[in-house]
Amino acid sequence: MSTTRRDLLATALTAAGAAAAPRLAGAEESHDHPEPEHQAVPSDPALRTRALESVLVARGLVDRAALDALVDAYEREIGPRNGARVIARAWVDEDYKRRLLSNATAAIAELGFGGEEGEQMVAVENTPRVHNLVVCTLCSCYPWPVLGLPPLWYKSAAYRSRSVIDPRGLLKELGLELAPEVDVRVWDSTAEVRYLVLPERPAGTAKLSEAELAALVTRDAMVGIARVTVASGGARA
Ligand code: FE
Repeated sequence: MSTTRRDLLATALTAAGAAAAPRLAGAEESHDHPEPEHQAVPSDPALRTRALESVLVARGLVDRAALDALVDAYEREIGPRNGARVIARAWVDEDYKRRLLSNATAAIAELGFGGEEGEQMVAVENTPRVHNLVVCTLCSCYPWPVLGLPPLWYKSAAYRSRSVIDPRGLLKELGLELAPEVDVRVWDSTAEVRYLVLPERPAGTAKLSEAELAALVTRDAMVGIARVTVASGGARA
């Protein structure tokens, strides 16, 4: 994602958040989330980590920008590369794709990925007529084994609410304009079930290897806020 796009995303979500979030207040209260990692109040380890970071930054021992860069790398590069391998395999192997869509947890485990925050995976396929978008309306449930850490915007109140209230409008603001005939399906992650979008394979990639295809797949495409394009792999930053 380019700097411009990231700025746009942040601006759009911030601007929309105040208006959109209250409309979901009732829904959030009724959302049943018993697991400790699935709550609005940060966990004790998260609070301790933030406190420690604040002290280290205040004393000049840690550069906050360096920390941000590190987290960003896990969010956009290291984690999502696992998911990208799953997508590329599904694009080149029809049998694998069938297994992925019928039992994503098992198919993802075939490539060696799985575990915490990804015990029950569901893969949803984008087609010319269907576009899938993943959210966690309550907090930040996210498929860690295939996508890494959830980005800040995924956790924002604005994204969580607008993806449900007006997914088509949100996607348009993020640069993904869908034709009217495309059916938008929004998947609300829970503590139990996490979703992975299988994006459409871009045109003009018939001669690419599986590894080259994987390099095109972005985190954003696997969450459903972007398409995979031939240019997207080289422009992942
Ligand atoms: Fe959640």
